[in-house]
Amino acid sequence: MKNGNIWVIAERNGDTLSNITIEIMSKAKELSKALDKKLSVVTIGYENDVIAKEAGVYGADRVIQVNDKLLEHYTTLPFTKVILNLIDKYDPALIMIPATVNGRDFAGRICAKNNTGLVADCHDIKLTDDKSDIKFIRPTFDGKLFSDVRISSERMIATVGKGAFVRQLRNEDNKYDIIIEESNLTEEDVKTTFVDFEKSDMDPLLESLLNSKVVVSGGMGLKSAENWHLVEELAEALGANVGATKPVADLGWCAKELQVGVTGAVVKPDVYIALGISGAIQHINGMKDSSVIIAVNNDPEAPIFKTAHYGIVADLFEFVPKLIEKIKAL
Ligand SMILES: Cc1cc2nc3c(=O)[nH]c(=O)nc-3n(C[C@H](O)[C@H](O)[C@H](O)COP(=O)(O)OP(=O)(O)OC[C@H]3O[C@@H](n4cnc5c(N)ncnc54)[C@H](O)[C@@H]3O)c2cc1C
Repeated sequence: MKNGNIWVIAERNGDTLSNITIEIMSKAKELSKALDKKLSVVTIGYENDVIAKEAGVYGADRVIQVNDKLLEHYTTLPFTKVILNLIDKYDPALIMIPATVNGRDFAGRICAKNNTGLVADCHDIKLTDDKSDIKFIRPTFDGKLFSDVRISSERMIATVGKGAFVRQLRNEDNKYDIIIEESNLTEEDVKTTFVDFEKSDMDPLLESLLNSKVVVSGGMGLKSAENWHLVEELAEALGANVGATKPVADLGWCAKELQVGVTGAVVKPDVYIALGISGAIQHINGMKDSSVIIAVNNDPEAPIFKTAHYGIVADLFEFVPKLIEKIKAL
């Protein structure tokens, strides 16, 4: 590993740092302390003074700010050029990037241009016991296993998905420097032009799911599309909305909009009922903040029981019809 600092490339959400950036910063801060390095947050954009200060308040030791009208909207080539110039100048050891559409786009380019190893979609980043190396933990085999991947180049790049780390807390007293850097871009560097946002109305199913107080979700334990009515009937009896795991939505047992998880809807209802759902991390990260989680699964070892507040070890085909009957009787 190089001597340089640890970087987080920030993304903004309107006038504030995106949630995923703040989550990644908390892990970057922990690593920088353990390795006796500094945490630098790089904020590239336009009119981003507030974002730079936010990065300081959320724990950066140093903020590298590039502010240029040509960077007002993300486009691949200008952003990549600016980041590569900054890398040349500051020589960071580890660069952590949100695994968002834009982050994934430029991370790959930086890694290729800079001949640096990259691990995508990390779920955790840990030091080895002797602190000489970094373990990049990422899901594999559709999230059923986690692999420990190592980078052999001196500089390392990781993209990190949302929900992997707990947000860093605000600290108004944090001491940080802001370094202003020029973008050194010209109009010639801009090969694609952002024109306008196209307004799209949120799908009513998704909107209803996101605002729901009670969600009944079904997984592959339902076995087939013919049995999906059990999820819908329980939801109806409870006045709840229906959710699903990714394979269920992929198979078309329900509308795609109803997928809960990191690549679907992130829900926080008062009650979340998981029927025949194993509890893969990608699903858990989409519902773990629900106030009460109830899981029904016939496997007592199913990982969902680690997240659930109430666990029912039962065959859902026996349990759910009886539950619907009881609720209707009430
Ligand atoms: C990049 C990426 C993104 C992903 N994004 C998402 C996402 O957003 N959302 C998501 O959900 N997944 C996502 N996944 C997929 C995820 O990793 C899991 O594969 C998926 O969540 C598993 O779905 P499941 O629980 O329905 O199926 P399974 O893992 O097959 O689990 C079925 C469960 O049903 C139980 N069961 C079987 N029969 C019965 C019965 N008769 N009664 C009671 N229980 C029974 C079994 O014990 C088992 O625990 C993603 C994966 C990747 C790689």
